Amino acid sequence: MSAPSPVTVTVTGAGGQIGYALLFRIASGAMLGPDTPVRLRLLEIPAGIRAAEGTALELQDCAFPALDSIDITTDVSAGFDGTNIALLVGARPRGPGMERGDLLQANGAIFAPQGAAINAGAADDVKVLVVGNPANTNAFIASAHAPDVPAERFTAMTRLDHNRALAQLALTLQIPVRSICNVTIWGNHSATQVPDITHGIVTDSSGVPRTLPEALAAVLGSPGAVEAWLDETFIPRVAKRGAEIIEVRGSSSAASAAAAAVDHMHDWVLGTGASWTSAARVSDGSYGVDPGLISSFPVRSNNQAWEIEQGLAVSPAVQARIDRSIRELRDERDMVRSLGMVR
Ligand code: NDP
Repeated sequence: MSAPSPVTVTVTGAGGQIGYALLFRIASGAMLGPDTPVRLRLLEIPAGIRAAEGTALELQDCAFPALDSIDITTDVSAGFDGTNIALLVGARPRGPGMERGDLLQANGAIFAPQGAAINAGAADDVKVLVVGNPANTNAFIASAHAPDVPAERFTAMTRLDHNRALAQLALTLQIPVRSICNVTIWGNHSATQVPDITHGIVTDSSGVPRTLPEALAAVLGSPGAVEAWLDETFIPRVAKRGAEIIEVRGSSSAASAAAAAVDHMHDWVLGTGASWTSAARVSDGSYGVDPGLISSFPVRSNNQAWEIEQGLAVSPAVQARIDRSIRELRDERDMVRSLGMVR
């Protein structure tokens, strides 16, 4: 059997915190499998180039068998030339006194040219994951500048929110994360995101499945106690986990964000298996989400394409939360349109 062809993986913001946690996992084969050779392309702005160069030296020293080459550039066109997988991590953080419009404008100046460069030079099968915040709208901007790339190839990361939800459920039920499936994050990767356990399944050690609401009621005492726990503890905890980590760790989450990016691309390329997962992709109108918005959905990857899980019943309470998150995405879309960043 012939060896798999090398895959070109571009990482922007490669000199940053998430980049530092991400690049070693990609090069070790955690993302695409240990037998797939990887050509890494690190894209940075001039201020970050030395950090990226230092990371590249360490990558060399790891002698990863799957790592074919490392190129470092500040040139956006060179950064995406022939790229199969683009992980857009670098973004402009919100500075003091910065309004949402300023943040969107600053990020539009990063993600519009990146979208255009992907359109001009990336491989035909390019897959894009935006990690840099505001991730959904940054992906929307990049996609709008890549008219020749199918819109569903531009995704934004809600896998960390999904993983955080699984972890909180596993801790509460005192079971391993692998026993839980079919949890969903809907909407925007922001405080309005909607973690939803309605269709979750828990499988105990003897292989017997139960619904997640039933399993939680058994631990928390009643269905009413589950509702209260979801509203008052679970949803806010998942949505505000980033702030909790900053408070405890003294700096923002990086390794868990990198792990989620690896999970997202791994499943997109190699398939999701038995459970669905969560990813933000362009809406086709499913579940009342405006077509064209990049929103998180329950998704499965078949043949390297994210497909939205169809036909799930959504309760009025969950739908109200989704509607709120979608209103936020619509506002962001309208703002980037009014700023002239997309048509
Ligand atoms: P990080 O590597 O920590 O974060 C990068 C981005 O990921 C931020 O937008 C951050 O959003 C976002 N993010 C998404 N999810 C998470 C999460 N769960 N936890 C933490 N962050 C999350 O930032 P650094 O400042 O360490 O590094 C950024 C690098 O990007 C710098 O080296 C800079 O030079 C570079 N850069 C590159 C650009 C380019 O290639 N064109 C453009 C701009 C910057 P949030 O801010 O909301 O935490």
